[in-house]
Amino acid sequence: DPRPLVVDRLTKHYPVRRGLFNSEVAKVHAVDGVSFELGHAETLGLVGESGCGKSTVGRCILRLVEPTDGTIALGGTDITHLDRHAMRPHRQRLQAIFQDPYSSLNQRMKAGDIVAEPLVNFGQRPTRDYIGDLLEKVGLRREQMDHYPHEFSGGQRQRLVIAKALALEPSVIVCDEAVSALDVSVQAQVINLLTELQERHRIAYLFIAHDLAVVEHISHRIAVMYLGQIVELAEKRDLFEEPLHPYTRALLEAVPIPDPEVERDKTIISGDVPSPVSPPSGCRFHTRCPHAFDRCRSEPPAYREVKAGHFAACHLND
Ligand code: SF4
Ligand code: MG
Repeated sequence: DPRPLVVDRLTKHYPVRRGLFNSEVAKVHAVDGVSFELGHAETLGLVGESGCGKSTVGRCILRLVEPTDGTIALGGTDITHLDRHAMRPHRQRLQAIFQDPYSSLNQRMKAGDIVAEPLVNFGQRPTRDYIGDLLEKVGLRREQMDHYPHEFSGGQRQRLVIAKALALEPSVIVCDEAVSALDVSVQAQVINLLTELQERHRIAYLFIAHDLAVVEHISHRIAVMYLGQIVELAEKRDLFEEPLHPYTRALLEAVPIPDPEVERDKTIISGDVPSPVSPPSGCRFHTRCPHAFDRCRSEPPAYREVKAGHFAACHLND
C-alpha cells in the first residue's frame, strides 16, 4: 500500500532581477531539497517563520507551482509535472484548505452548492441528502445548505470549506494556515473536527502553520523549516521534549503569537530572516544561531537521522 504522499528533494527556485538597472538574474531559493513522507491518516505539521518556503512546498504539492527539481508522489503516482488535464484523475485524492475562508468561498453561491461544486466538476450529481450529510459531518446543520457564506461565522465558514474538501473523499489534504485567522477557541474546535474526520476517513494532513502551538495538538510528526530547508523532523513528543536543532529550540521558547492577523509577518526570533536570494553560507541559520562556531559559517550541516525517526541538520549533533 503506497504512502499517501512522498516528497523527495523538492526544490523551487525563482529567478529575480538583481535590480532595476542590473540585468543579472539571481535565484530565490524558496525551497531547497525538502523531503518527507505522509503515512495513512497521519498529520505532519510543517512550521517555520513567514517566508521560509512552507507555503511553496504546499503549493508545489497542489500543482499550483511548478517545482524546479525533486519529485512528488501521490499514492504511488508521480504527479510532479502533471499538467491540469493529466492531474484531473488524481485531483480527487488531493484537496486543500487555506487560511481565509471568506475569500475562498463564492459569496453568491449557497452553502449546499459550494459543497457540491467539486462533485459536479467531476460529473457527479450529489443529492441534497448527501450534501446534508456532509454538512452534518463538519458540525453544521442540514438547513444551512440554503444559506449564503455571509450568514456564517468565521469558524462556520471554515467548516464549510472543510465539507467542500471532504466531498471527494481525498486521501491527502494540504492545510495552509487553515485555522490561523480564527479565534483561539474556534481554532481548537476546528482542529478537533479535523482530527475526528481524519480518524473516521483515514485522511493524511500536511498541516502548514507559522506557529508551533497551533500544529502541536493535531500533528503526529513535525517538520521545522528554515530558509527553504527542513532543519528538523521528528515525532511530536521527541521534537518538544528533545529538540536537536537550535532553531527549533528558539521556536519552542518563543512566546505564542496571540493574534495571527496582526503578528503574522513578525519575526519571532531576534534577528531578521536572511534573504532567500543569497542564503548565508554554511549553515543557513548561522547568522542567528547562539551556538554558531567557525565550521558553521563554511560547511552546511548534513540533514541526517540522529536518532530513530529523528532528523536534524546541525553540526552540534556530530
Ligand atoms: Fe547553529 Fe552551527 Fe548548528 Fe547551524 S550548524 S544550527 S549555526 S550550531
Ligand atoms: Mg504562508
